[in-house]
Amino acid sequence: MALVGGRPDNAVGRMRRRMERLYPLCRSLTGEGVQQTLAILAEDLPLHDGAPFIKRIASGTQVFDWTIPPRWRVGAAWIADAATGRRLIDLADHTLHLVSYSAPFRGRLSREDLEPHLHSLPDHPDWIPYRTSYYVRDWGFCLTQRQRDALGEGPFDVVVDTDFDDAGELIYGELVLPGSDPEAGEVLISSHLCHPSLANDNLSGLTVATELAGRLRQRPHRLGYRFVFAPGTIGSLTWLAQHPDVRPDHVLVLTGLGGGGELVYKRTRRGAQPIDRAAEHVVGHRQGRIVGYSPYGYDERQYNALGFDLPAGRLTRTPHGEYPEYHTSADDLAFVADAELIDSLDAIEEIFAVLEGEATYRNLSPYGEPQLGKRGLYPKVGGRSADDAVMAMLWLMACSDGETSLLAITERARLPFAILRQAADDLLAAGLLG
Ligand code: ZN
Repeated sequence: MALVGGRPDNAVGRMRRRMERLYPLCRSLTGEGVQQTLAILAEDLPLHDGAPFIKRIASGTQVFDWTIPPRWRVGAAWIADAATGRRLIDLADHTLHLVSYSAPFRGRLSREDLEPHLHSLPDHPDWIPYRTSYYVRDWGFCLTQRQRDALGEGPFDVVVDTDFDDAGELIYGELVLPGSDPEAGEVLISSHLCHPSLANDNLSGLTVATELAGRLRQRPHRLGYRFVFAPGTIGSLTWLAQHPDVRPDHVLVLTGLGGGGELVYKRTRRGAQPIDRAAEHVVGHRQGRIVGYSPYGYDERQYNALGFDLPAGRLTRTPHGEYPEYHTSADDLAFVADAELIDSLDAIEEIFAVLEGEATYRNLSPYGEPQLGKRGLYPKVGGRSADDAVMAMLWLMACSDGETSLLAITERARLPFAILRQAADDLLAAGLLG
């Protein structure tokens, strides 16, 4: 078994292989690509008791202010030189070549008539942009600037073999891992899955979330964990519409977890929620960046909406729009490094450990410093400075007033949360905390 980050683990290999399999699929809001994606994720998810992972909701269903769109089927799509029949741009070469959700079209066009349907990036002449036309019925092709410059004058034969099925459905994946303490609450982890061949946005989120679910299955957890893999905006809104009685205590949106850069935690709309405090502690200790809430971004804007008022933070390391490869073919498998995936996974596990371990205690021996030594809690050899474990106990005894939480004391002590958690367990066992 390979050693990764100093421990036996093949999580990196699994996350990488999962991304490689997901990368070529032609995902969109609905359709075969989403189905295939969920099937691949399901292979590694701890599904149990035959609970259905894939949820379906019929096209045309009203979801708050939105309507579930028809299912999009995509077959072939290409531009050919009419004189020679040579295919110049072909969906079979790259899923980004077709504007996502393109309407069907078949015809012969002049260069002038084709032009409004072409999208390229003059500043990055070798990259294909990612474009969608979800809510306007149109068709289009995305291509590199070099391909565009070399198209010639035409005429061109264009085939967009797609159609929309009003009797179709939107699908999303949902996995619930119940916690051992029903009173402890629930964490919702949400990742969008509507992008085609883009690795960081959002295959990185999908593969890390899947790995997280597997790890949670292997160890006890007080909190419940619910994973939602859904198309952006309409997918999270659909989940919200179908679960009016589910009120997760913490929501974490995961996306863009590769692509270099430091971890970036985006606060909930209210701020200062438990998920904010946990994530700020972990991301801060990892030299990451904390940003305030903004009503733009990924699905955190749906969960945080006033009508739902859920505390949704977001973890990325490369926020949307802040890197040139964003929404282009340069966001490919090579753009996401293994080290970034595993570091993101570790950080999220640490955030969950804080949520799991956070508590508030009272010092039961508050009249001066209790004798730790006679309880076997103090190092036997005196004279050297106190180590972290002793400092953690002293901080806990100093500050556990029944109102100040473990995490608040951790921040004041400037020690890792895990050390405070262990110290609290020792003091609880010794009857000094309650
Ligand atoms: Zn995106």
